[in-house]
Amino acid sequence: MIKELSHIGIAVKDLDEALEIYEGVFGLEVEKIQIVEEQKVKIAFLHAGETQIELLEPTEEEGAVARFIEKRGEGVHHLAFAVDDIEAALQKIRDQGIAVVNEKPRIGAEGFKIAFLHPKSTKNVLVELCEK
Ligand code: ZN
Repeated sequence: MIKELSHIGIAVKDLDEALEIYEGVFGLEVEKIQIVEEQKVKIAFLHAGETQIELLEPTEEEGAVARFIEKRGEGVHHLAFAVDDIEAALQKIRDQGIAVVNEKPRIGAEGFKIAFLHPKSTKNVLVELCEK
């Protein structure tokens, strides 16, 4: 069902400061930086070989990423797995009793269809499915 690890999302308080590490020190190449109003985050995608790192900085205090940082501090926020057919994957996953955050896919930062699964069903890891 899952093809590959698409990216790892990391919640950060300050994107520029995080880029000094991930781009400046590690030498990862920034693909793009954008603000996603709907999710109240400013994100940077960096290439890391076959996968990517997504740095997420909250733009408002009441967003989900802001709440995550408040509760758990900065750090790994989600794992995103690529699937061929997100509707079929979601159905199959739900049929097997996995709780989901998004009943239906929505359009994510990169213009792909995405959906989040509930961490209570996935060992406390927020899992994102994305169809490219
Ligand atoms: Zn993501």
